[in-house]
Amino acid sequence: MELFKCFVVYLVISVGQIHSSDEGMCTAKEQCTAPESSTTSSNLYSADFNKYMAAIESSVAAYIPCNSTNCNCHTDVLKADLKPFKAQGITKDSINRAKQYGTHYQVVGHKLYRQRECMFPARCSGVEHFVKPLLPLLPDMDLVLNCRDWPQIHRHWSKEKIPVLSFSKTAEYLDIMYPAWAFWEGGPAIALYPTGLGRWDLHRKSITKTNTDWDSKESKAFFRGSRTSDERDALVLLSRAQPSLVDAQYTKNQAWKSPQDTLNAEPAREVTLEEHCRYRFLFNFRGVAASFRFKHLFLCRSLVFHVGDEWLEFFYPSLKPWVHYVPVPVRSSPEELEALIRFFQEHDELARDIAERGYEHIWNHLRMVDVECYWKKLLKRYGKLIRYTVERDSSLIEV
Ligand code: UDP
Repeated sequence: MELFKCFVVYLVISVGQIHSSDEGMCTAKEQCTAPESSTTSSNLYSADFNKYMAAIESSVAAYIPCNSTNCNCHTDVLKADLKPFKAQGITKDSINRAKQYGTHYQVVGHKLYRQRECMFPARCSGVEHFVKPLLPLLPDMDLVLNCRDWPQIHRHWSKEKIPVLSFSKTAEYLDIMYPAWAFWEGGPAIALYPTGLGRWDLHRKSITKTNTDWDSKESKAFFRGSRTSDERDALVLLSRAQPSLVDAQYTKNQAWKSPQDTLNAEPAREVTLEEHCRYRFLFNFRGVAASFRFKHLFLCRSLVFHVGDEWLEFFYPSLKPWVHYVPVPVRSSPEELEALIRFFQEHDELARDIAERGYEHIWNHLRMVDVECYWKKLLKRYGKLIRYTVERDSSLIEV
């Protein structure tokens, strides 16, 4: 009996060896299931993996790079934003209605005037930096410039077409997008940037200079910022569960009162935008509106994961999902985020290619000259829509 048992054990081992030396070959009609022990995370997520692969292939195949001359990569955005005002033009009445939604400016005789009070002086100044050099080219006009984060003119709630310029919006809003003040000054003031995030021209250089090469980046997802939207929670929770996969932590902002505001944890140390470049996968989320973070992340030559597609700044539509960044559905669960991160950990070349295209796009098409050019086109076209003779408002001060 003992001898028989030994024979059976020998037979099982031998058959096992024959199969394992088979190098995965199997004959027709045989069941070619992978042995349990070789199940990797790729198998676990293979349905998602195929989906991601197909999305990248088709998006890259369909992608036609934009024409970089004369900020043409972005011109469709201002055309679309101004289109609702084309039929009736911008009337004195519509400007009077708009005044409650923002700061009133006038261009009269190639001079710039503004109402005395500006809710956020650094933001007004960040806007004026771009408008003033254009004055010799601009016709007379009234402008109502919203310096708050939130857009103002909801497509469905506002019966009239009221011309208000805002830095960010969703498709639900009629606001006309302008390049944010923070390209120059007046961005969020955090401990690292006490006078406010700004000077895109300088950040372009400093971040690009410190961006480490792909191979020396940590193969990890990274996010640092405050809880301006709970859409960021899933990544922070994933980071707490899997710190070797993700480092996503909440920092304090000016509204911070207790650890509740940082999802029941102590606030994390702030991390400079340059330091973000140490990581391969960088997450962007909306905040109150679009976050200024987005453009900076590309300069790291890391792979940008952009969560949600609703909130825009003027340059967002020029960036294409799967070509320049990884689009992440809003409210993805920690498990879904994990699958996406693991896909790119395991497909290094795809990750690197998208990161490189994202970097090139922002480097080549979001230069300071592109921002200036956008302002110029926007205001020249806006000026052509004015349907009345602009009269100087003596309550405004020259700026
Ligand atoms: N920021 C940063 N390092 C940090 C935290 C924030 O560079 O550790 C930057 C971030 O990139 C963004 C700005 O500070 O541009 C404000 O970030 P926050 O998350 O507080 O608000 P958001 O504007 O993204 O809603």
